[in-house]
Amino acid sequence: MTIVGERIIVLGGGVIGLSCALALASRGHDVSILEKGSCGGQASGAAAGMLAPFSENPEYPDGFFRLCLDSLRRYPRWQAEVKRLSGMDFEYTESGSLYAVYHEADLSALSARLSWQRPFGTEADIVEGSRLEQLEPQMQQARAAVYCPEESHVHAPDYVRALKAACCTVGVEIREQLQELALADWTAGVRVQDSAGQSYEADRIVLCTGAWSGSWSELFGFPIPVYPIRGQICAYSAEQAELRHILFTSQGYMVSKANGMLVCGASEDIAGFATSVTDKGIHRLEALSKRTLPFLKERQPTLKWAGLRPATQDGYPLLGSSPEHPRVIFACGHYRNGILLSPATAAVVADIVDGRKPELELDAFRPDRFR
Ligand SMILES: Cc1cc2nc3c(=O)[nH]c(=O)nc-3n(C[C@H](O)[C@H](O)[C@H](O)COP(=O)(O)OP(=O)(O)OC[C@H]3O[C@@H](n4cnc5c(N)ncnc54)[C@H](O)[C@@H]3O)c2cc1C
Repeated sequence: MTIVGERIIVLGGGVIGLSCALALASRGHDVSILEKGSCGGQASGAAAGMLAPFSENPEYPDGFFRLCLDSLRRYPRWQAEVKRLSGMDFEYTESGSLYAVYHEADLSALSARLSWQRPFGTEADIVEGSRLEQLEPQMQQARAAVYCPEESHVHAPDYVRALKAACCTVGVEIREQLQELALADWTAGVRVQDSAGQSYEADRIVLCTGAWSGSWSELFGFPIPVYPIRGQICAYSAEQAELRHILFTSQGYMVSKANGMLVCGASEDIAGFATSVTDKGIHRLEALSKRTLPFLKERQPTLKWAGLRPATQDGYPLLGSSPEHPRVIFACGHYRNGILLSPATAAVVADIVDGRKPELELDAFRPDRFR
């Protein structure tokens, strides 16, 4: 049964909160986003924007891979709808990707990966020699690569800005700079209080609080092991895109944006909630990019930044409610894939609110699974 018109608070205005708000308001709900800082001001605005379920899941086809793939396949329609509603353009490039290896011994791992990924409809293939050189002439010669034509990327900061504008178009109320927000009630109804003492009431709340989501553990009485993993990135400037594909190696990735920025990422370090960059982190990325792309040898990165990925203990996001707190929906812990997972997460959350069974099996993502 569809219950049109529930009042819903979305806590957190990153890519996940904005996407959930957009889907919920588009289905007729009355949605408010409460953001303690600025929408897109944390991980979502720092991301490289790759939509790469095959390259990010090289081991086996679990529920997480299926969720990632489902989300990738929603992107063509989803991004077109975000552009239409926002009236804003943002880069969505169906570039394909190359996952390069440099040693003969790595070839069997590539073949194993293709043998389980192909039944999911990918046209990925192993390329080597002149075919590889033709695909990406600027790359240091690798032994071979998996070429995956379906993987794509967006310009994450522009995508998030467009999501925010699309939310405004469909009537989402957005409140930013609210500082600390306390969840005062979530039993009979939901009540949130900001630091100025103002209350916000709703029928349900969706927690999209990214790397800060671990703090809900005490309130709900079960462990929520979400913690920040800092990702540092550096970027080189150019007049136009210099790479044709997203390039992955075992040490990191490189991707050219339409505005000419060539992004190389990313570190994975534990630094609490610090979003500073370090010499060590950036030097490693510089060394990787110059080794992989010899044309960068004499150039220096022009931009460096960092963001906090919301990691979980098992690497899977938290999606859904716990039986004791049905008014609280978790949508957090998307770690390295929140940009990719934004359309699928939005669909899952909107289905839960509407009382529809989500199309995908969500058991592995239960928010209370760490009890
Ligand atoms: C360097 C880097 C590169 C990445 N590259 C990619 C990539 O290529 N592809 C990909 O798919 N993903 C990538 N990611 C991961 C992706 O950025 C994240 O998974 C995604 O942004 C998470 O979105 P989110 O909305 O959950 O979190 P965030 O964007 O961090 O948003 C959470 C929001 O909640 C707010 N908040 C927190 N607590 C509260 C509270 N109590 N009340 C109100 N508001 C609150 C915060 O201020 C913040 O704005 C990358 C991440 C990093 C750091």
